[in-house]
Formats: sequence, structure tokens, C-alpha cells
Amino acid sequence: MACKSSGELNELLQSARRYTEKGKVADYIPALGKANRNELSIAIHYQNEECVSAGDIETKFTLQSVSKIISLAVALLDHGEEYVFSKVGMEPTGDPFNSIAKLESSVPSKPLNPMINAGALAVTNMIKGSHQSDKLVRLLQFVHDLTSNPYITYSVEVAESEFQTSNLNRSLCYFMKQHGIISGDVEELMQVYTKQCAIEMNCLDLARIGAVFAFNGMDPASKRQIIPPHIARICKTFMVTCGMYNASGEFAIKIGIPAKSGVSGAILCTVPGKYGIGIYGPALDSKGNSIAGIKLLELLSKRYNLSMF
Ligand code: GLN
Repeated sequence: MACKSSGELNELLQSARRYTEKGKVADYIPALGKANRNELSIAIHYQNEECVSAGDIETKFTLQSVSKIISLAVALLDHGEEYVFSKVGMEPTGDPFNSIAKLESSVPSKPLNPMINAGALAVTNMIKGSHQSDKLVRLLQFVHDLTSNPYITYSVEVAESEFQTSNLNRSLCYFMKQHGIISGDVEELMQVYTKQCAIEMNCLDLARIGAVFAFNGMDPASKRQIIPPHIARICKTFMVTCGMYNASGEFAIKIGIPAKSGVSGAILCTVPGKYGIGIYGPALDSKGNSIAGIKLLELLSKRYNLSMF
């Protein structure tokens, strides 16, 4: 896909780039620690397939928590709302993404929403497929449909690095297994989840996914309805209420568009009815969001009056 570099976007990107110095690359997944913290890139995908970009757009990154929006859409397609929300709630937590605290105090004991790790693990557990490789194929196929890029796959290095170190996520799984929220083998679930989080793309692909959500699940180029509108609406609502972890409230006030971030530094944004935005900037703030990426979105939102509120 051709994407024009934009002088105007580059000017905003350069103002935001200096914030990378204040952030820190995630290294609790050791392979993510190799990222260059000074990088920042953005792509915007419009309805007519036009695309503008700025920054290091060739860099590929893993989706990490951005993948939670994709797995949620797949689980909703597979099982419908009633079943999915019998296992995972709809409320923001106000806690960090990997917190176990509310799992114990909530009655019934189910994760509060699908954007925190506990909720996302429960959602991935639901995806149809008799073996973990079937679930992964299904997720990847869906990503290919969303991006119109059949070459996207996952990073073996990042997936293995997370699989070997994610004891906290394992503990969430065992807790949920005890309470009947998930079933089956925890190691198999960890295999699918870590590969799902390691799905790798660049910000042009990410912007294209954002555009599909911006047009209520329809690919603006092919006009194919990839996600039913009611599922796209649910995903976008979670992006607003819980997409930026425990910074979602501030993000809604300052920027005001549905967005989902990941600890790789990726941010998927969707400006309803207008366009999709993909951002990558691996230096993170204390809540695990791309520090310069948020700054760039703030500048963009102010300049183009993007807030939906
Ligand atoms: N794979 C990461 C984890 O489970 C995703 C977290 C994130 O991006 N916030 O820890």
C-alpha cells in the first residue's frame, strides 16, 4: 500500500518526539527491551484508501494489548454477546493492566473487562478451535482480513520471550480456572495468548485496522463488511472506557477518540466516520502507554478537533 509522507504530520511528530526521552521501553518481556526508545511513527488511513505517514514507518512491532480488541471481536463473532459477557465484565478497573486484585474482590469472580490481561486471557480461551494452533490461525486470518495484508504473522522471538516469563499471567489463568471462567490447559492458552500478543505489523497496517473500525466494521477500500456493526460498536466502546488502561479517563478528556494501546508502544486509534490512525513509539509512560504517541495524538486532536465529545 502506498503511503505519502506528510510535512504537516512530520512537524507534529517532531514536536512529540522529544517526549521519548522521558519514557522507558518495556523490558518485563525481555525481547521488547531491544526496541529503540527514540523511534516514533504514525500513519493515517482514509476512506478512499489514501494514506499519509511520518516517522520510522518501516519498523515492525508486536501488537501486545492492541490484540485484545481483535480477539474480542473474534470471540463475539464465535459466541455472541450473552456468552462472552457471562465470563467477562464491561466495567473499567482503574487498576494496572496485569493486576490480580479485582479478580479476588469481584462477585461473581470474573475479570472486569476484556482489555485487562485477565479479561483478555478469558476471551482468548473462548475462541473456537479444538487445538491452540486452530485458534491462532483464526486470529491471523482475521488480521489478514482487517489489514488486507496476508503476510502478517507473529514474532517467534517475542512470543517465546513472553511465554518463558509470564508467570503473572499464568497466575491469573489458574485463578480463573478455579472459578470456572476458563477451561482447558493453561499452558496451551498461554501459547495462543503469547503468539496473539506477538502478532507483528507496521503502523500502516495498524492504521488500516483503525479505518475498518472507523467505518463500523466495513473495509473502506473493498466495502466488505469484515466485522458486524454491533460488534465494531462494542469494541470501540471498550476502547473509550478501558483502551488506555488506567489512563483511559485522562485520554478521553485530552484526546477523545477510541484507542487501544500495547506495551510494545503501539496505539490503534479510530476516528469514527473519518479515518484510522496507527502509532508506534516504544518509550512508555508509567501506565504502559507510548509517551510520545499520546503526546502526538494530543497535538493531532487539538489541531484537527478530533474529540468526539
Ligand atoms: N503481552 C502483554 C502481557 O500480557 C500485553 C500487555 C500490554 O500490552 N499491556 O503482559
